[in-house]
Amino acid sequence: MRRVSILGATGSIGQSTIDLIARDPEVYDVVALTGAQNISQLIKDAKALRAEVAVTSDPSRLDELRDGLAGTGIEAAAGDAALIEAAARPADWVMSAIVGAAGLAPGLEALKHGTTLALANKESLVTAGTLLMSEAKRLGATVLPVDSEHSAVFQALIGEDISAVERIIITASGGAFRDRPLDALDRVTVAEASNHPNWDMGQRITIDSSSMFNKAMELIETKEFFGIDANKIETIVHPESLIHALVGFNDGALMAHVGPPDMRHAIGYALNWPDRKHVPVERLDLAAIGQLNFRAPEAARYPALAIAQKVMEEGGLTGAVFNAAKEQALDGFLAGDCRFTDMARVVNGVVDVMLSREGLQNATITLDSVNQADSMARALACEEIAKIES
Ligand code: NAD
Ligand code: MG
Repeated sequence: MRRVSILGATGSIGQSTIDLIARDPEVYDVVALTGAQNISQLIKDAKALRAEVAVTSDPSRLDELRDGLAGTGIEAAAGDAALIEAAARPADWVMSAIVGAAGLAPGLEALKHGTTLALANKESLVTAGTLLMSEAKRLGATVLPVDSEHSAVFQALIGEDISAVERIIITASGGAFRDRPLDALDRVTVAEASNHPNWDMGQRITIDSSSMFNKAMELIETKEFFGIDANKIETIVHPESLIHALVGFNDGALMAHVGPPDMRHAIGYALNWPDRKHVPVERLDLAAIGQLNFRAPEAARYPALAIAQKVMEEGGLTGAVFNAAKEQALDGFLAGDCRFTDMARVVNGVVDVMLSREGLQNATITLDSVNQADSMARALACEEIAKIES
């Protein structure tokens, strides 16, 4: 039996992971499942998968979780320390699928115990890529990318030498507003931005896809995960979302990864790695699809991409600042405190202010330094948002 844990089990990635694991109950022994507010889902899954422990990040929901699991023998726990303890339990494979910077510490903890970490939490790489990857190397642990683009690149690189890579091209659907007039973007609503043309995902990453902040994150992720220079990473708008990424080699060849827009593909790949096994996703009918389209991303429509370029060039703690400012700006948009187009202005402003202070680029990346940069960036983002309101 393979011992597996799912951090962020109640979310979109967590539920897709459970969908795959639940098909093979004789193969997987479920250790820990974690969630936040969706306690009924957590209880249901913990019972169905006979988990060892279920954890909510919110201590005020512990009684509810405990009551729901009473008599099952499944442990219930709550809070940040419990999340870390769950991540530390011996497991062969851990899915890191908490959303946001909150996913970093539990993922790092799982690595310490030599597990294979399936990494959906892109914020870990954006905020602390060098720390995460160097820790994995030091501890002999494996990190497998679960973001579909990075899974695609990972697969295209098997058997290849990274020094032969000329460029990595990350595809982007263009989000919900790829065809909307630029001067209408100011008026975009939360409901409109929460609708993705191709993928069914959590609300935060869906809005980040509308604003291209998700792609900006993915460019940084690419640099951090594959250790490739920023000037070799490109974005192309590909409205069908069937090619997930392409790798260009020094002989001019482009290796593309093609598959349906279903995260169970990348999750299943990471779950079965290094083998390939059946994954229940749609098989593409290329004749029915007929054509694939591509277009260059417009700088004016997607200001997040230029910010990502700056973050990659500056390095150090700039990624942690960028991510925290982006999370705060998104909270601002969700709360109605800033417009859709203000998010990029806020993030850019915070990154510039923080870069003007000494030491951001050369700082050592530790959990503490990341948390400190994160708090400062969130406070600055709140100030920037308050300025917009007045
Ligand atoms: P989601 O919002 O659907 O689920 C997030 C999970 O994290 C839930 O289980 C929630 O309970 C938990 N959570 C939320 N806040 C928490 C906190 N403060 N502490 C502990 N747990 C908390 O998100 P998602 O769409 O599944 O995305 C998860 C991660 O995977 C994100 O980093 C996202 O960028 C990445 N990702 C998602 C997709 C996708 O298709 N959904 C694709 C690529 C990458
Ligand atoms: Mg992605």
